[in-house]
Formats: sequence, structure tokens, C-alpha cells
Amino acid sequence: MAKNLQAIRGMNDILPGESARWAGFEHVIRDVLTGYGYHEIRTPIVEFTDLFCRSIGEVTDIVEKEMYTFDDRNGDSLSLRPEGTASCVRACIEHGLLHNQQQRLWYTGPMFRHERPQKGRYRQFHQIGAEVFGMAGPDIDAELICMTARFWKRLGLTDVSLQLNTLGTPDCRAAYRQRLIEYFRAHLNQLDEDALRRLDSNPLRILDTKNPAMATVVANAPQLLDHLDAESAAHFARLRELLDAAGVAYTINPRLVRGLDYYTKTVFEWVTDRLGAQGTVCAGGRYDGLVEQLGGRATAAVGFAMGVERLLGLLEARDDFAAERVPQVYVVMVGEAAERVGLVLAERLRDALPGLRLQLNAGGGGFKNQMKRADKSAAEWALILGEQEAADGTAALKPLRGEGEQQVFAQAELTARLAGLLALA
Ligand code: ATP
Ligand code: MG
Repeated sequence: MAKNLQAIRGMNDILPGESARWAGFEHVIRDVLTGYGYHEIRTPIVEFTDLFCRSIGEVTDIVEKEMYTFDDRNGDSLSLRPEGTASCVRACIEHGLLHNQQQRLWYTGPMFRHERPQKGRYRQFHQIGAEVFGMAGPDIDAELICMTARFWKRLGLTDVSLQLNTLGTPDCRAAYRQRLIEYFRAHLNQLDEDALRRLDSNPLRILDTKNPAMATVVANAPQLLDHLDAESAAHFARLRELLDAAGVAYTINPRLVRGLDYYTKTVFEWVTDRLGAQGTVCAGGRYDGLVEQLGGRATAAVGFAMGVERLLGLLEARDDFAAERVPQVYVVMVGEAAERVGLVLAERLRDALPGLRLQLNAGGGGFKNQMKRADKSAAEWALILGEQEAADGTAALKPLRGEGEQQVFAQAELTARLAGLLALA
């Protein structure tokens, strides 16, 4: 026998039932984003590999070992997008959305990283993210962070907390980088292989190590917070002031550097201790240099992305935001004549009542059998058409939940009856 086909490891099917929780979640987030004046942007899931190398950075986990990269039939190197920011910036430059303009954008969709699959870490996973262009001040950083806090409020999520840091301007970051290299050079014997490799290319990332053996050397490293230039310090102070005023609590984490190269000034993460090592549910920051780095004119930018699977994992026990929509009416039709009348009637009802959720029996079956399906569909009403009803232009309405008698109506009356019963306009 042929081997059964299976989905690729780390890439999940989202089955009915579960998909209702996804839709409900997305609905809440979309609603908040819209409420803050953000507009959706959709970009392809495949881009030239070069885009990700030039934006995310050559010496990052993503580019070094996580990308799905392949040659297409023309020999171009393409990659499945591992994140959304690079594509968004590319699209904005390409379509002239940035020059002398402000943009508040959001996106959602699958991202692809070849990581070791485990709970909360997949090879195809989903993000919802936002990117803002053309605003350089800490006011927009504060707005973005307040908006993320509102997501959790709207979802009823309480066990996440905010970590905040600043990576400074490129100048003060460069000076700090040098200081850090000198410090680590003086402690070479305490560095692991990964850290040694990153020492000259990406020393800030060493601070982000998950290796417990390096905890001390990292804890004693100089901190960028102590070496901020005036501009970075003022930006950070004002951001903190605004968050304090808005009542958004945070912890300063001097070792928060983020895995991507392009960040400047503000960086933040929302974390939980309920998901083990996969504890970051939303992460972002400012990236004022990226647009120029990708060939556009210098444009201030800030954004974040949240991991949908991890957030749904946190909301596991809850489904009050799930948008499971069961049918309101199930049409039972016994006999060929009734099936024809039922189809026509159903289409007429859908024309008249566009919000109506009506499920038509299909595949025949006797009356009892069809009533069982009607019940299983969770519909509130069965609309019953037998040979008699088909012949004399009537139909019976039977309540499926709770008490109530079956009633017979003229088919012509049904639109008005159902509109009233289901409170449809
Ligand atoms: P981590 O440190 O957990 O690997 P990251 O820094 O690589 O995260 P980002 O690139 O900042 O993650 O992506 C933003 C968010 O997307 C993360 O905070 C997380 O919630 C989610 N995410 C990232 N990678 C995965 C993955 N492989 N599977 C599921 N969710 C992910
Ligand atoms: Mg990662």
C-alpha cells in the first residue's frame, strides 16, 4: 500500500473548531489595529533571498540557519519570508509610500523558519505585526506599546509582562560595540563557540545567549544603558515618561538586544513564563536605518510582531473570543420534488436575508436521518419540506433547541417569519 502523505514537520493544519479560535483572535486584533488607524498591507510570502540577508543581517540565526531558500526555475535565489518587516519595507519603497508621508501599517500571515519544532516553535508559524513609518519620536513608540497592551486587555490575557530596552543611535551603539568587544576579549576563556564566532561580527547578540555557563560573563558586561548619547537617552526617558503616564508597566532589561540586526533605540518584548523557553509572544522596536539600508530615503520606522500560535497557546483554556458560527436553520427535504423546492427556497431566503446562516441537507436520507443531521449541526430551527409541503407551497418550521411547537407556513411568508424569529434585518 502507498505510504500515507503527511504534512511537513513543524507545519500545522488548523482544523475546524480550532480555526474558529484563530478567526476570533484575529478579529480582536484587527479591531484594535483599526481603532488606532492602522491599515493592512499584504505582500508575497516569497522574496529574493537578498532582501532578507540585507535587512535581517548575515550574522543572525535566521539568515545563518533558519531560512527556506531555493533557486527558482530562472536560477534566482528566493526565500520563504521568515518575518514580515523586510517585505513590508521593500513594498513601501517600491510603491513610494514613504517619502514625506506617515504610514501606520499592519500585516498578518505565515512565516517560515527551519527551527527544531517544539511547542510554541514551528517551521510555518503565524505573525500579526505592525510597522509605522515617518515618525521619529518616542510618542509613536509609546502608542505602539499601548496598542499591544490593549490587545492583551481585549483578549483577557493577564500573565504577560513588558520588557524594555534601548539600543541607542547607530553612533553610540558602535562605540558600545567596541567597548563590548574589548570586554569579551578580556574574558575569552569564558566564551562558548557561538560567542567566539559572534565576537567581531555581532557582539551584542552574545548578551542574548541562552547558555547558563555564560551567565556571569554576560551579567558583568558593560551596559549600553550606561553609555547612551544625549539623543538616545532623551528618547528613552520620554518613552518611559509616556508609558508611566499611560499606566503601562514595564521592566528595563539591559540584555534585551533582539535577534535582528536592524534595531535602533527602542526595543521591547512581551514575555510570559507559561510557555517554557518559548516565552516571547510579541517583540519589536525602532529601526530607523533599515529603509535607507534597503535603498530608500532615510525614514524613521518602528514596529512589532506577535506570534499567533504562542498567544493562542496562552489563551488555551478560553474560547469566549472564538467566532464559531453554527447554522441558524437546517433545511430538511424529503423526496425529489422537495429537494428542488428547497434549493430554490433557500436561495430566495439567502437573497432576502444576507446575514442568514442556513444549511441545506445534501445527500438525501430519510426524514429521521435528516433530523439527526439537523440536530448535529447545532442549528436553532429545522425547515422541513416533505412531498406534501412541496406540492402545496408550504413549509414547516420546527424549533430544535428547547420547547416550542412545529408550525406550518406558506413558503411566501418564510422570509418575514425567519427575519422575525432570528432578529435579522
Ligand atoms: P525566539 O527568541 O523565541 O526564537 P525570535 O526573536 O526569533 O523569537 P521574532 O523574530 O522577534 O522572534 O518574531 C516575533 C514573534 O514571533 C516571537 O516573539 C514569537 O512569538 C514568534 N515566533 C518567532 N519564531 C517562531 C517560531 N518558530 N514558531 C512560532 N512562533 C515564533
Ligand atoms: Mg528565533
